[in-house]
Amino acid sequence: MPFVSSVVDISSNLANVRERIAAAARRAGRSPDEIALMAVSKTFPAAAIRAAYDAGQRLFGENRVQEFAEKAGELLGLPIAMHLIGHLQSNKAKKAAELFPAIDSVDSLKLAERLNDAALSLNRKLQVLIEINIGGEDAKSGIAPASPELEELLRAAPRLEALQFRGLMTIPPFTEDPEGARPYFRGLRELRAHLSARKLPSVSLDVLSMGMSHDFEVAIAEGSTCVRLGTAIFGERSKQ
Ligand SMILES: *Cc1c(COP(=O)(O)O)cnc(C)c1O
Repeated sequence: MPFVSSVVDISSNLANVRERIAAAARRAGRSPDEIALMAVSKTFPAAAIRAAYDAGQRLFGENRVQEFAEKAGELLGLPIAMHLIGHLQSNKAKKAAELFPAIDSVDSLKLAERLNDAALSLNRKLQVLIEINIGGEDAKSGIAPASPELEELLRAAPRLEALQFRGLMTIPPFTEDPEGARPYFRGLRELRAHLSARKLPSVSLDVLSMGMSHDFEVAIAEGSTCVRLGTAIFGERSKQ
């Protein structure tokens, strides 16, 4: 297990990032209420999630099905929303649909179909975001903007009746200077505007999930509606 930030640290880190989110929103002429804060708890134990919960946090993200499956037992009954934000192989779709109410990293039609089947068999709805590989990086998952794959997925939405398409998610190429991410964040916002204008059936695009610990203020300036923060809340992760 990695070093676990104390409960006090998690609570004051949360207060600090909430302040920074509100300040970034105001600078951009936006209401802080438009921006959801997701606490990314990967690599940290259930106790850290509980500490964040005690400090008022309700929205969380994990990037691996198996890792969260191991923590979930300790969190039963805790009224939190845990989203999957990491790459998901379609053979784990069933397990993911059992554990998470939302999958923010849908990156292929095949995966969407598997998730839809799983959700139907569980008799529940799944909220999904489409992950876009906005920087076109080979090493990253996500669908290329303006690709046939994206068109295929969007057109399939009406028949994937257990999935609720809610928006787009991205992880931009890493740059030391957070300003380096700005063109990518802007690109995702423009892609959303472009797709929204087409009024695609069964596709709502209210959510723009972008911005992590080192660049979330830039993401907010470019229209993010959900920032995903790990390090800024729970501390540094040890390398896995
Ligand atoms: C780990 C992770 C984050 C959080 O990263 P930090 O830099 O620690 O804030 C956000 N999004 C995804 C998809 C992640 O895997």
